[in-house]
Amino acid sequence: MNLRIPGPTPLPDNVLQIMSKQMINHRGVEFGQILNSVTENFKTLFQTKNDIFVYTTSGTGGLEAAVVNTLSPGDKVLAVVIGVFGERFAQIAEVYGADVTRLVFEFGTGADPDKVKQALDADPSIKAVLVTHNETSTGVTNDLEALAKVIKSYDKLLLVDAISSLGCIDLKVDAWKCDVVVTGSQKGWMAPPGAAMLSFSAKAWEAVEKSKMPKFYFDAKKAKSYLEKNQTPWTPGVPTFYALHVALNELVKEGLDSIFARHIKTAQKTRDGLKAMGLTLFAEPKYASNTISSVKVTDGLDGIKLLKILLDEHDTVIAGGQANLGGKIFRVGHLGYVVESEIDAVLEALKQALPKAGFKA
Ligand SMILES: *Cc1c(COP(=O)(O)O)cnc(C)c1O
Repeated sequence: MNLRIPGPTPLPDNVLQIMSKQMINHRGVEFGQILNSVTENFKTLFQTKNDIFVYTTSGTGGLEAAVVNTLSPGDKVLAVVIGVFGERFAQIAEVYGADVTRLVFEFGTGADPDKVKQALDADPSIKAVLVTHNETSTGVTNDLEALAKVIKSYDKLLLVDAISSLGCIDLKVDAWKCDVVVTGSQKGWMAPPGAAMLSFSAKAWEAVEKSKMPKFYFDAKKAKSYLEKNQTPWTPGVPTFYALHVALNELVKEGLDSIFARHIKTAQKTRDGLKAMGLTLFAEPKYASNTISSVKVTDGLDGIKLLKILLDEHDTVIAGGQANLGGKIFRVGHLGYVVESEIDAVLEALKQALPKAGFKA
């Protein structure tokens, strides 16, 4: 099976094997060592000295943890929305009672820092800004460095969804002053679903002290006090931690420069291959993501039929469009553990399937 969706992503053999290891006491020394190693390696890969917590939850749980730990009902929040996941982040803040203003950009493009600046000028009472680093639903990577520069020049709290970018695309958490950054194990981390990782800056901790949103499972203060004794407050997803332990050691050994270069190369190869077939990419070129490529469904193509033919005849799974992009785009994931032959294979499968799905280049 060539699983080319933006998570869960395929895993290397050594990561698969470690997950069949017997369970251990999650309050014992061995688990404590694993948690310690995983947390320290995440600091390296997040490029941060901030606190990092590994929650047993999916990425969305991580977004919820970012919101409930730092905000209070009634807080003014600016949600920068460039796709489905940006909208989800906004909804979470709203559900917990934040006063959310959305700054929506056309799907397929990135957020304009000047527009963000205007929005912050227009309402000085805004406390926090929500930004998606890599919008998986559109295949767009925001210029987070430029956005963060604007947002931090106003000294706002910056909460970042980096679920499908961290560990693949450069994100300097400390240098760019990101206050809370969220990622998920099943995207770029060569690990299975089940963990969300969050970093908290000093400014984030000040916000935690004042936060009045209800929280229990995701309480960062509990996470911090337990991490001091090398534990998690609640029972962790032990096999996911085994996997992260092995995967992160490899990623740290490989080094960030090599990880980023690998993703750039694979993404370029994917985009070049798609364009060579006469397809049109959905994302504006300067924002094209190096973890996921989005393609317009045009020229007679039946997107649903395409996915079915790829599965039935080529044992290949790609992703369709989400929400109102359903039927309008398809997406090819190239994040985490992906080798070039898998990109060759998905491109070859597409080449054969496209005409059968009605595409007339
Ligand atoms: C996958 C993803 C999410 C949601 O993560 P789940 O693990 O499915 O809860 C949120 N934001 C982005 C950018 C994602 O790619």
